[in-house]
Amino acid sequence: MADYVLADTHVHLNLNRFDRDREEVIKRALGAGVGLMINVGFDLATTRGSIELAERHDSIYATAGIHPHEASSYNHAVEDELRKLAAHPRVVAIGEIGLDYFRNLSPRGDQLRAFRAQIRLARELDLPLIIHNRDALDDVLTTIDEEGAGEVGGVMHCFPGDADYAREVVDRGFHIGIGGPVTYSREGKMVKAARAVPLNRILLETDSPWLTPEPHKGQGTRRNEPAFVSEVAEAVAAATGVRVEDIARQTTGNAMRLFRIPEKPAPAIAYEMWGNLYLNITNRCTNECKFCIRYRTDILWGYNLRLEREPSTQELLDAIGDPTRYREIVFCGYGEPTMRLDVIKTVGARVRELGGKVRIDTNGHGNLIWNRNIVPELALVTDSVSVSLNAESDTVYESVCRPRFGAGTYEHVRSFVRECVKAGIDVVVSVVDIPEINIDSSRKVADELGVPFRVRGGGRGRPENGGD
Ligand code: SF4
Repeated sequence: MADYVLADTHVHLNLNRFDRDREEVIKRALGAGVGLMINVGFDLATTRGSIELAERHDSIYATAGIHPHEASSYNHAVEDELRKLAAHPRVVAIGEIGLDYFRNLSPRGDQLRAFRAQIRLARELDLPLIIHNRDALDDVLTTIDEEGAGEVGGVMHCFPGDADYAREVVDRGFHIGIGGPVTYSREGKMVKAARAVPLNRILLETDSPWLTPEPHKGQGTRRNEPAFVSEVAEAVAAATGVRVEDIARQTTGNAMRLFRIPEKPAPAIAYEMWGNLYLNITNRCTNECKFCIRYRTDILWGYNLRLEREPSTQELLDAIGDPTRYREIVFCGYGEPTMRLDVIKTVGARVRELGGKVRIDTNGHGNLIWNRNIVPELALVTDSVSVSLNAESDTVYESVCRPRFGAGTYEHVRSFVRECVKAGIDVVVSVVDIPEINIDSSRKVADELGVPFRVRGGGRGRPENGGD
């Protein structure tokens, strides 16, 4: 996962090309740091599909619109229905609307009529526009001007013009949508357009399932997906000479402002990833690891893990429901879960009664926190534990993890692992791949402890926050 949050402002994930693996595609996007996706409707059916998808996923928002290809179908009844759909709280724009003089699937007169009517609708509803513009550069600008579209602004998706046209569009209060084609040529029109406008006027997009960026385009992965927006961000970074993390922060901020996305989703006490349900039971921790992702962001995989208060046992049980729907129920948190031992014991026992599997992701400080050996109590309520070893020696541990218990904590972590093995709990230990930690020496420590060893990506948080 990237250490920054990306926004893919143009996807069509409700199309049947994603029927086979839609949820996997969304998970890959979240795992790649894509915290916001705008799923764009282009007729009434796809608008409804977009809304349904947005209702099921916090990171996805919907739009409502009739594409120029469908412009001949635009009438009062369609407009009334569009107005109703656009009132849905997850709808953030009118689009995809505009003009397509390349394919001309509707007569140009119908296209102009539908485009004008939907700009008026957007002004009435105070929603920004997502504009499709193919071989219709002059007519799109003229229509924008005549209908006062600058009042609501929006984005010209899959930006079709050159640098001068980009400046014209930006002058009218619009953003330019930069997608996969920016990766096709270092001196292509889209690259030049991206260089010509201020960064606060650029949005990133994939147009999934179309316009797959390089290098995926050439690897047999023809279908595009939102995880690939990172390639678009890299290409814009290369084109503008701005660091990719700055491109991500700026363009995600642009998208959130344009589409009026609330700053943060509500805190998540439970979130699903990779078929597991992760329980975010506390933000307190007895370490202050240098690499801990919670010092950089509250949002992980699109979930806000910064708790306003710790969830109760009942709230957690309600969030779990039937635990057999998940591979594992994992106690984690943006913190150390064993700080809430009673919650683990009560919830873990209930999950197992109901036939679920339990895992605890921990820093291994439980016995220090409670000043007794808690492992026999854990053995009654968990199937496995994943312990962050995070060093090959006490000195390294103290300097990288900065434990509240000071020198000697590392030996307590190892002793916790030994106790777990003795109690018959499945144990995995892991380290983060950062220069301060010697991976080979850490692996030897795991071998000595007789447990499996895993390396996590550098600076990406910890498995106890769902990083597997
Ligand atoms: S990485 Fe884990 S153990 Fe370290 S500070 Fe963060 S939550 Fe605590």
